[in-house]
Amino acid sequence: MNTAVMPTYGRADIAFEKGEGVYLISTDGRRFLDFGSGIAVNALGHSHPKLVKALQDQVGTLWHTSNLYHIPQQTALAELLCKTSFADLVFFGNSGAEAVEGCIKLARKYQSAIGHPEKWRVIACSGSFHGRSFATLSASKNAKHLDGFGPETDGFDQVPFGNLNELRNATGGETAAIVVEPIQGEGGIRPADIEYLKGLRATADEFGLLLIFDEVQTGMGRTGKLWAHEWAGIEPDAMAVAKGLGGGMPIGAIMATENAAQGMTPGTHGSTYGGNYLSTTAALAVLEEVTSDGFLDRVQEVSAYLLQKGEEIVAKYPDVFQEVRGKGLMLGFVCKVTNLDMWNKLRDAGLLTVPADDNVVRFLPPLIIEKSHVDEAIGILDQVAGAWEHGDDGA
Ligand SMILES: *Cc1c(COP(=O)(O)O)cnc(C)c1O
Repeated sequence: MNTAVMPTYGRADIAFEKGEGVYLISTDGRRFLDFGSGIAVNALGHSHPKLVKALQDQVGTLWHTSNLYHIPQQTALAELLCKTSFADLVFFGNSGAEAVEGCIKLARKYQSAIGHPEKWRVIACSGSFHGRSFATLSASKNAKHLDGFGPETDGFDQVPFGNLNELRNATGGETAAIVVEPIQGEGGIRPADIEYLKGLRATADEFGLLLIFDEVQTGMGRTGKLWAHEWAGIEPDAMAVAKGLGGGMPIGAIMATENAAQGMTPGTHGSTYGGNYLSTTAALAVLEEVTSDGFLDRVQEVSAYLLQKGEEIVAKYPDVFQEVRGKGLMLGFVCKVTNLDMWNKLRDAGLLTVPADDNVVRFLPPLIIEKSHVDEAIGILDQVAGAWEHGDDGA
C-alpha cells in the first residue's frame, strides 16, 4: 500500500482502531492477541483504566509549558524513578535514541568535568541496537542501518558482545564509557550473562569509565525486575530508558548517579518537549502501577509459565524452532524457518509478535497478561508450527 508516509518501514497490511487490555481490534473487525505491545511499549496493555483516567484528567487541564518552568508531574516522576533505582537524577527526552545519545553526552561531559577531556570515546557491542540517530547508529555499527548515510560519527569502538577480554583490550586512554544492553533486543533477544555484566562493572571501575546500560527495551519491569541489571546485582552509572516508560506516550529518560551527572549543569542539555505534562503524567501512572505491591511478582510468575510452555513448543517442533531464550516477558523464539514468515503466519492466526535479527520472533506481551493469555498464544504457536511441520506451510 503506497501512501504519503515516507516508506521507511516494512509494514504489515493492517491497521487497528481499538485496544482492550491484551487485545487489538483491526479496522476490518478482527481481534488479535497482542504479544508485541507496540515493541515493548504498552507495558500495561491497551486502555488500562488507571492510565486512561490519569491522562483524561490531565488532557483537559494542561499539556505543555516547556522546561522554562517547573513541571510538578516531571518532578514527581523523577523522584519515583530515583526512589526505585540506583539513580539520583533524571533528564527527560522523547525517545530511546535521545536517551542513549544523552547518556553518551553525559559520559563525555563527566570525563571533562573531572579533568579528563581527552576521554571521549565510547565502547559498544556487536549486535547491539541503540537507536537511529547518527551517534547511536555509529555505536551499534549495523551496516544495514548505516548504508548510504555517509561516514560514521567518530568516537565509537566496537567489541564482541559478551567478551570481556576484548573489551579490556579495546579500552584506551581516550575511552570514556561503555554502553551495553543487558539483553540485546533488536539483535535477537540475546541475554548477557550475569558474570559478563559484573565484569563490565569491574572493568569500568578499573579504568575510570562510566558504565551505561541501555535499558530502553529491558526496563520498566519487562524482565520481571524493574530494571534488568538488578538480576546481576550491580548498578550502572547511567541508564537510558524509554519504550515501556510512558505506556504508549512518547517519553525517554537519562537516569544517572549524582557523580556521573556532575557535568550536566544549567544550559548543558535540553529538550523542548521532554518531560511535558502529558508524557510524565502517563509515565508516573505506569511506574506507580509497575512498582505496586505484587505486580512484578505476578510478572515473574506468568513469565516462568510462558517460558515453560515455549520450551515445550520448541521441543515439539524441532524442525521449526531452534530455541527460546530471554528473560521475563522478553522472549525470543529462534526460528529454523524464516522469522518473517513465522511473524506473518502468527498474525494471520490472530497473534501479534515482533521480528528481530538472528531469525528471531519476539514475544513482548503487556506486563498484565495472565496464564489464560499465555495458553491462547501458545495454542496459536502450536497450530502454526504444526501446520509447518506437516508440510502444509499454509501459504
Ligand atoms: C528501541 C530501542 C532504542 C531506540 O528507541 P527509539 O525510541 O526508537 O529511539 C534504543 N535502544 C534499545 C535497546 C531499543 O530497544
